[in-house]
Amino acid sequence: MAMTIHGATPKLLKNLRHLVRPLNSAPPSIAAVVSPLNIVEKTHPNATGPPPAAAAADTSVLDFDDVKGLFGPVSTAKLISSSVILHMAAMGPVVDMGTWVMNSRVMETPVLREAVLGVVKSTIYEHFCAGSDTEEAGQTVRRLWDVGLRAMLDYGLEHANDNVSCDRNSEEFIRTVESTQSLPPSSVSFVVAKVTAICPIDLLRRVSDLLRWEYKEHSFHLPWKLDTLPIFSDSSPFYHTPNKPDPLTPQEERDLELAHQRLVKISEKCLEHNVLLVIDAEDTSLQPAIDYFTYSAAIMFNKYEHPIVFGTIQLYLKDAKERLLLAKRAADKLGLPMGFKLVRGAYIRSERQVAASLGVESPVHDSIQQTHACYNECASFMLEEVSSGRGSVVLATHNIESGKLAAAKARDLGIRKETQKLQFAQLYGMSEALSFGLKNAGFEVSKYLPFGPVEQIIPYLLRRAEENKGLLSASSFDRQLMRKELKRRLKATII
Ligand SMILES: Cc1cc2nc3c(=O)[nH]c(=O)nc-3n(C[C@H](O)[C@H](O)[C@H](O)COP(=O)(O)OP(=O)(O)OC[C@H]3O[C@@H](n4cnc5c(N)ncnc54)[C@H](O)[C@@H]3O)c2cc1C
Repeated sequence: MAMTIHGATPKLLKNLRHLVRPLNSAPPSIAAVVSPLNIVEKTHPNATGPPPAAAAADTSVLDFDDVKGLFGPVSTAKLISSSVILHMAAMGPVVDMGTWVMNSRVMETPVLREAVLGVVKSTIYEHFCAGSDTEEAGQTVRRLWDVGLRAMLDYGLEHANDNVSCDRNSEEFIRTVESTQSLPPSSVSFVVAKVTAICPIDLLRRVSDLLRWEYKEHSFHLPWKLDTLPIFSDSSPFYHTPNKPDPLTPQEERDLELAHQRLVKISEKCLEHNVLLVIDAEDTSLQPAIDYFTYSAAIMFNKYEHPIVFGTIQLYLKDAKERLLLAKRAADKLGLPMGFKLVRGAYIRSERQVAASLGVESPVHDSIQQTHACYNECASFMLEEVSSGRGSVVLATHNIESGKLAAAKARDLGIRKETQKLQFAQLYGMSEALSFGLKNAGFEVSKYLPFGPVEQIIPYLLRRAEENKGLLSASSFDRQLMRKELKRRLKATII
């Protein structure tokens, strides 16, 4: 039954070596795979800020000058509160202090815990989260739908350690899918699931180890393995598995089957309710098992022209481009419609820390420019695939330059803006300018909406706080445009 990674790919891999440069070599070129971007592609150290004039001239599909048009649907009160929260989040010491408090023993004292959670709830939680349950999240979905944006619903769950928590989490994902039925049709583009919430974390680590060893030693047999797409490339990090792992015990095999069944049930529900499912990517110690689950579910459910199950590729990883190409080509060979969400990646600090502690090379690109280039090249590749009818992509980014480049490329390829096969997405509470700019240009745009009780969302909030920290953070361009619009509104009231 198993279509092993090796079985399906040696020839493909051989061909790809000619097509794709090893990621740690220069200069970057996937020209043989995708036609080069026919637009000026420049990155600059703060690529979240306004792009250089030359690039702006060539990528003028999005209009950020008309702030009235951009923020028209946003109330003045919301603009002010967003500016304040994002400004606070950009202040390093405030974020460091908040992070310290939330990780400290202060949280073990009930009264102090309640006080801290109260402050969190009325500030960053309200800004970055859609509500505490499906009902509140539904209200946020409706508000977004009214202003022309769609939603990716993410019930905020982090790692689970046992089958009981996994079953409970799986039920929450199913309830989330069911909740879309009471919402305006098409207002929810995706339901998001995390494999780490439906499969015990230790088992995901074991499966990742075994998959890595199987890739390295072709004779190593995994009797439980289902059909999948390629999960590794030769440049993938293997340092997480220094020694040959023991085979899964009968109990572990049963637990793996239970986890697989949970994902099958969630996928069936999505199929039944006509909503797409996207699986989030996490850190490299677990990602092989997450990809394995994703691809085996995709093989089961992506039977029609449009994929149901989408995977996520983190383009800050040095091996990401090769893995994307390998998986896409293998899916094409099987006639499998495959969709990918492309992100830069949110675990940079821990990835680098783990690699440094083991004395090995970091799996993350050495410079942010390399990450930007990798993101833009892979976005370009997927847009070509969409254009030729062979793929679906969600470009999940806050980067203005990437948004502009992709919008211009989509225009040049003649991709219909209303196609479901190309979607843009930003996190709720971030990059409003980019979301509205893309929406105003006619593209499908979703906001990624985490929801759930405040205590449960804290790890997510800490990641957002880290991301928005610093003057050159993702939010700086947004804050600048919001201030401009607030000044314009103030002037209009006075005059
Ligand atoms: C809809 C949506 C879904 C997402 N889902 C996931 C997911 O499933 N898994 C996941 O991991 N993340 C996910 N993310 C988070 C995303 O990866 C982060 O938002 C990302 O870190 C920011 O990238 P950006 O494309 O917005 O670009 P930018 O705003 O330009 O991001 C730049 C950031 O990239 C980081 N960076 C990347 N590479 C480097 C490097 N080599 N050197 C230094 N800094 C670097 C820096 O922290 C920098 O702040 C998602 C984001 C969105 C919008």
